Amino acid sequence: MEEYQGKATMEKITSLSKRRGFVYQSSEIYGGQNGAWDYGPLGVELKNRLAQCWWKEMTQLHDDIAGLDAAILMHPRTWEASGHVENFTDPLVDCKKCKSRFRADQIPEENITEKKCPDCGGELTDVRKFNLMFKTQIGAAEDTANLIYLRPETAQGIYVNYKNVIQSNRMKIPFGIAQIGKAFRNEIVTRNFIFRSCEFEQMEMQYFVKPGTDVEWYNEWKKRRWSYYEKLGLKMDHFRWRQHEKDEMAHYAKEAWDIEYLFPMGWRELEGIHNRTDYDLKRHSEYSGKDMQYIEQETNERYIPYIVETSAGLTRNLLMALCDAYDEETVGEGDVRTVMRFHPAIAPITVAVLPLMKKDGLAEMAEEIRKELMGDFATDYDHGGAIGRRYRRQDEAGTPFCVTVDYESKEDNTVTLRFRDSMEQVRVKRDELSERLRKEIKNYKRIL
Ligand code: ATP
Repeated sequence: MEEYQGKATMEKITSLSKRRGFVYQSSEIYGGQNGAWDYGPLGVELKNRLAQCWWKEMTQLHDDIAGLDAAILMHPRTWEASGHVENFTDPLVDCKKCKSRFRADQIPEENITEKKCPDCGGELTDVRKFNLMFKTQIGAAEDTANLIYLRPETAQGIYVNYKNVIQSNRMKIPFGIAQIGKAFRNEIVTRNFIFRSCEFEQMEMQYFVKPGTDVEWYNEWKKRRWSYYEKLGLKMDHFRWRQHEKDEMAHYAKEAWDIEYLFPMGWRELEGIHNRTDYDLKRHSEYSGKDMQYIEQETNERYIPYIVETSAGLTRNLLMALCDAYDEETVGEGDVRTVMRFHPAIAPITVAVLPLMKKDGLAEMAEEIRKELMGDFATDYDHGGAIGRRYRRQDEAGTPFCVTVDYESKEDNTVTLRFRDSMEQVRVKRDELSERLRKEIKNYKRIL
């Protein structure tokens, strides 16, 4: 698919996010903080579910991958060793007239050569290198001795711990370490909602392999990461591979491919899969003076492992999930419903319980049913307004199943189970509801 043909626009996603509590602008009452976002009640659930799916896929389903949660603040030498102090820069130009700031690699080349602002035609400054790492101080004294960085990627926390993990968990090569956590980059241009922010979350896995087997493992991890997205029931014609050109590869990379997603603003990187070679461990060995070699127990062979990295943005995955799920459907004359078609594994609410009326004991019965379900499912309860309106609210939140309690329920202990995607309704016995929901979740297939 070349051009975006879905129903979402960034405006629609941004406004639905605010209206329904997926994502708010940070510090909105003060006019907002550029590059920072707050995840509301539905957003934090969606983010947690996406993180859980990734974690399960990358740790639980592999006995050769262990988890880690390293600190955001690391010894500043880490970033000298990693090459970030020297190389983690973007080329920056400013317009002297309108004061706009651009990444030189993101505006047409003739604007750079002619030094002409693409917005107002004013004069541009020379291109300067701008380091993306946030700096701050640790301790009381504000001098350079106390300089510390906010980590721009989670990967380094894994590298500096790789020997600890080998020792504590008796890992043998090939093995991986997975981590989810915050990362910070002083991005010059933060456009497109949460796509590129200064504070974001990454889901990274570093796989340590014997040199010479890296190409094979690299291809294996490419396959595995693609099939992960397939399992989440996403629109796979919105996914594609893109190989990095030689001149855009990071300083450590031997090979780099991105999984790109077709967002409303076009194809953009969602996840990177990199062959980082032995670059990072060699440099840490050099800078720390510690031996970072791995010793094969059987043969006593020593080597610095190669690393295959899979690096996905969690918050960028959340934006992808919002865009992917968004749909508008005409139901009846002139009536359009907005529906978020999340896979039940990631939907913020799995099942909503709704009494048809508040009175005649229906609300009490619905609350009881909700209590029966809440230990096993993410539930919601809503008794406000007409039932049709309440269904629409749940459709917009992406709730795949609604359970409605009506007068018949009181007579025969059955409820209505309504499906978000098809809007079909079936009658289910109250004591078979949990089982039925479990089955529906397991067998879920996206129909649109
Ligand atoms: P880009 O070219 O978009 O700046 P990158 O190539 O520098 O990204 P990596 O360093 O490979 O990105 O980071 C791995 C992943 O982390 C990206 O695929 C993306 O999902 C996420 N990511 C990187 N920077 C940001 C950001 N500023 N905001 C949100 N997510 C980000």
